This record gives sequence, structure tokens and C-alpha cells, in this order.
Amino acid sequence: MKLFSIRGGVHPKGRKELAADVAIAPVGLPPLLRVPLLQHIGTPAEPVVRKGDLVKKGQLLAIGQGMVSAPVHAPTSGRVMAIGRYVAPHPSGLPGRTVTLKPDGQDEWADLPPPLDPETATPEEIAERVADRGIVGMGGATFPSAIKLNLGGRYDLHLLVVNGAECEPYLTCDDRLMRERADQVIDGILSMRKALGVGRAIVAVETNKPRAMEALRKAGAGLDGLRVVGVPTRYPMGSERHLVQTLTGLETPARGLTADIGVVVHNVATAFAVHEAVRLGRPLISRVVTLSGGGIARPGNYEARIGTPIEALIAAAGGLEDRTARLILGGPMMGQPLADPKAPLVKGTNGVLALRPAESGESAAQQPCIRCATCVSVCPCGLMPLEMAARIRKEQLDAAVEHGLMDCVGCGSCAYACPSRIPLVQLFNYAKGRLTAVQRARHKQEEIKRLARARAERMDAIARAKREQMDRRKAERAARKKAEQTAPEAAAEKRDQETVDA
Ligand code: SF4
Ligand code: SF4
Repeated sequence: MKLFSIRGGVHPKGRKELAADVAIAPVGLPPLLRVPLLQHIGTPAEPVVRKGDLVKKGQLLAIGQGMVSAPVHAPTSGRVMAIGRYVAPHPSGLPGRTVTLKPDGQDEWADLPPPLDPETATPEEIAERVADRGIVGMGGATFPSAIKLNLGGRYDLHLLVVNGAECEPYLTCDDRLMRERADQVIDGILSMRKALGVGRAIVAVETNKPRAMEALRKAGAGLDGLRVVGVPTRYPMGSERHLVQTLTGLETPARGLTADIGVVVHNVATAFAVHEAVRLGRPLISRVVTLSGGGIARPGNYEARIGTPIEALIAAAGGLEDRTARLILGGPMMGQPLADPKAPLVKGTNGVLALRPAESGESAAQQPCIRCATCVSVCPCGLMPLEMAARIRKEQLDAAVEHGLMDCVGCGSCAYACPSRIPLVQLFNYAKGRLTAVQRARHKQEEIKRLARARAERMDAIARAKREQMDRRKAERAARKKAEQTAPEAAAEKRDQETVDA
């Protein structure tokens, strides 16, 4: 298949050898599971259980709210110990609303919905099942998957791309899933393809994962419209828009969706979760996560329940080696520092890295920009990172936006390549955060103004209705009074007329 080249990109050291050849190993249940109600992009789920309730594995704990949300299910059977704020897996370390569950050791399933056959199920039934089972994008984006599966009604779609690129260094959880559970991944892809109403699906795998490709090709042999394609090993090949461009030559419009050019992208781990939901009725209550880096005693890929504290995962991987400098959630390029290892594993956590000083790059001191333009040449979005950074440093955020800040996908290629070790992505994230906060405040103000206007209009309408009612009553009273005054005269006139007639 013809592939198209994309601009920029870097070749960081993969370090995948640390965990790639270690088979997926289950992690036992911890004494307490902490299940956050916000594990997706959108509105947090709302609890439907109370403290003290006994729940079974897979039972609904919290229901999705509004258009963009996802429900949350019990990762095992046990008792709800608390519903309150608990440290979230976020760089801020700020707490989020969380259900704390004490496992009873029985791991007993709740009643699950009946299996669906993707051959005979309607697209709507499949999308509804995916929504109901709480599936979100597991490559780290955590967008509720059912919303993407419903895009067929609004966009002219022609292709499903399943992202098995896994281009972040160290991470190998998707690689292992593709190798060990290729049949289930392919089966999930067939369900997603049916829900989207497209005939074609491409599974894209970086060429540094030959065994994953082989396993998928074997599992998908003979299936019409399904191809497993090797794509160049170059970061950030896993970025949706760049993957689609590599496969189709089509460019996603700036700040647009790949659906704008007829393509929907899902991750391979999401495909596996869709298989479990459609064929077995199971909700998303566990995932495979890579634990790696020089600071992890036994790097590997571990399957753990959602809500397992990261420190319990690290303990399952043999604990931390001395001189660990940094804990990161996700990969080293786009991942986020982990503020507190008590934070739980969530649906979007694909990696936990413990990096030593030499690996984390923290030993190299930051230098002034030498205007070498390396950052420009590696940016896959064609941006000018040095100019954006200069504007952000001067707090000229609007100027940074004019230089394309909002088109930056945060891939980190520029920071990786910068010889002066300038933390470009941190600057961009800071600026994006500030702009989002300003936008939120503006929305809030507009919403307050809108509500005030609506209230004033409502009060006006009530006052008008009252006035009209009073006017009506006044008119009625006047009419009654007039009628009362004229009634005796009319009666006398009638009597006179009767006398004349007689
Ligand atoms: S790569 Fe670094 S030093 Fe070179 S121009 Fe960009 S920001 Fe400046
Ligand atoms: S982080 Fe942004 S600016 Fe830097 S290379 Fe990636 S897309 Fe370009």
C-alpha cells in the first residue's frame, strides 16, 4: 500500500526492549480500589450507589451526564466505603470525586447484558452497548468512544483507522495486546466498522512491531476490507492526524476532526474493549498498562483493575530502584508528571514510567535559545515553536495564538530536539491552560449575562401579564357596573312596551 510522507518528527530512543518481550501479567486486587468519576473528556459521572452499598463486579457505580460523558462500573465485587474527593492521576495532584471500594475477594460478576452478534446487531445497538459499557479512548485521549462511533450520521465517512502505532518510547502495552489478543482486537474492529457504517478498516502498526503485525494479519486473514499496514517508526506517528495523512495523503483541517476528511481513528486497546463489551457484555473495568524505565525493578506489561493505586502497580513490578528521578503517567514525550503515586489507574493510563536522571534529561541544564530552528524543522504541524515560546515568555498569549499555538498537538518533538533543552511543551501547556481558563471565565460571564437577560425578560413578561390581567379585570368590572346601571331602565322600557302592546 502506498504511504505518504509527513513533515517533521523525531527518532527518540525507543527503550521498548525493556518491556516488549514480557507477556501481560495480571495484578492482584489491592485492599482498596479508588474509582474516579471523571476518567474521560467531558462531564463527570454521577454516583448511583451510596456509602455502605454492596456491589458486584461490573455493576454500575456512576452514570454518565449530558452529551459528553461515560458511566463508571465496579472493578470487582465489594462494599462502597466512601464517595468523596481523592487524589487524581493529574500533574496538579488535586483531588477529584472518587468511589472507594473495598473488594470482598469474591470477584463476583453482576448480571451482564446479553452478548451481541456484530453480524446481526444494528449500528445503533453496537454504539449504545459501547456507551453503556463506559468505553473511552484508551490511547490516552479518553474521549467517549460511542460518540465517535455515531459520527456516521453527521459525516461522510469512508475509513476506520485503528491506531496500533504506539510511537511513544518505553510503551509496549498495545504491542503486547496486539500480539497476545489479536483475534479479540480484530473482532472489536469489525464491530466498530459496523457501527460506523464504513466498508474499509486499516490497522496501522509501526514497523518496529513485526510480531504484532504478524499476529493481526493472521487473525484478520480473509476478511474483506481489512488491512494491517506497517507505518514508518517515527515519532509522532501515533498522532491521529499524522497517521491518517501517512495512510491516505489527506490533511485534517487545522482545528478540525479527521471525520472532516471521512476518517475515524480508534486505538487498538479500545478495539479490544469493544470486543469485550459487544461479545461478552463486559464494561471497561481493567486495562493493560506498561510499567517501565530504569527506575522500575521488573519492567513489563500488567493487567490491572481500574482504581488500583499506582503505588500498588509499582509494587507488583518489583518496586522502585534507587535514584529514580521522575514518575510519569504515559510516555516520556507526551506523558504527565505523577504528583502522588497513591493516585489510581484510570481508563486512559497506558504507562507508568520511573525514569532515572540520565533518562529523564533533567541533568542537562537549560540554555538560552540559539535560534538554530531545529524545533521548526521537526515540528510535524509546521509551526514555529521558538516564536511561540518567545511570545509566551512575554505573556503575549494572543501573539502566540497567531503563531499557531492552538494547532500544536503537544507532541514534544520540538522540546526533544532543542539543543538548549528549553521546556517548550511545558510553555505551550502553560499558555493553553491560561487561554482555556480565560475562555472559561468569558463563557461564565456570558452565561451569567445570558441568565440575567433571561431573568429580566421573564420578570417583564410576568409584569406584562399582571398588567394585562388587571386591565382585563378593570374592564370586566366597568362592563358589569354599566350593565347593572342600565338594567332597571331596560326593564322599565320593556314593561312600557308590553303595556302598549296590550
Ligand atoms: S531548537 Fe531550541 S535553541 Fe533552537 S531555535 Fe528552537 S528553541 Fe531555540
Ligand atoms: S509540541 Fe507543538 S510545536 Fe512542538 S513539535 Fe509538537 S506540535 Fe510542534
